Amino acid sequence: MFNVVDHPLIKHKLTIMRNRDTGPKEFRELLREITFLLAYEATRNVETIEVDVETPLEKTKGYAIEDKKMVVVPILRAGLGMADSILELMPNASVGHIGVYRDPQTLRPVQYYCKLPKIEEKSFVFLLDPMLATGFSAVHAVNILKQHGAKNIVLVCLIAAPEGVEALESHHPDVHVYAAALDRQLNNHGYILPGLGDAGDRLYRTK
Ligand code: URA
Repeated sequence: MFNVVDHPLIKHKLTIMRNRDTGPKEFRELLREITFLLAYEATRNVETIEVDVETPLEKTKGYAIEDKKMVVVPILRAGLGMADSILELMPNASVGHIGVYRDPQTLRPVQYYCKLPKIEEKSFVFLLDPMLATGFSAVHAVNILKQHGAKNIVLVCLIAAPEGVEALESHHPDVHVYAAALDRQLNNHGYILPGLGDAGDRLYRTK
């Protein structure tokens, strides 16, 4: 299921990220901030357990999330820019990494790295990739996560293209997607229009 998190703060920050003149420092900070805001919605269905808590005045019931059951999986490399925000919210989450690059000719994902923690049926997996473009990398990453036993997967991304949403929905309709924006289309090189360019290059100043 695809959700755009429609919020003035997210819109404002994303507009600054889109601007070609925004430098890597600000770009990184904004990606962290927007991820934080997206995570608020993306964690809405996370289970809570009742716990006892003693206030200075009396005992009462409270709630806890079991963040040890959370697994954060950035798709390398741009997804790395989102991981710390989620870890700030859920510091005991485990972290896995999936390294995928796009073959420039076929635009198909080529995996070069995969290291995942133990994933159990009850694990809640946050897959992170700022750009849901063709959807090939996301479909590939979800395939891997499911092969490792993941049953609850949420993809958090910044900008999605209709093509990517369709690809992910047709292969993995059970995956919930939370995005800051749904853009118009892909260009012939698989970049999102209007988009923000290459998220990895803008984060790490590689171009
Ligand atoms: N990856 C990016 O970094 N940007 C796009 O527009 C598409 C894929």
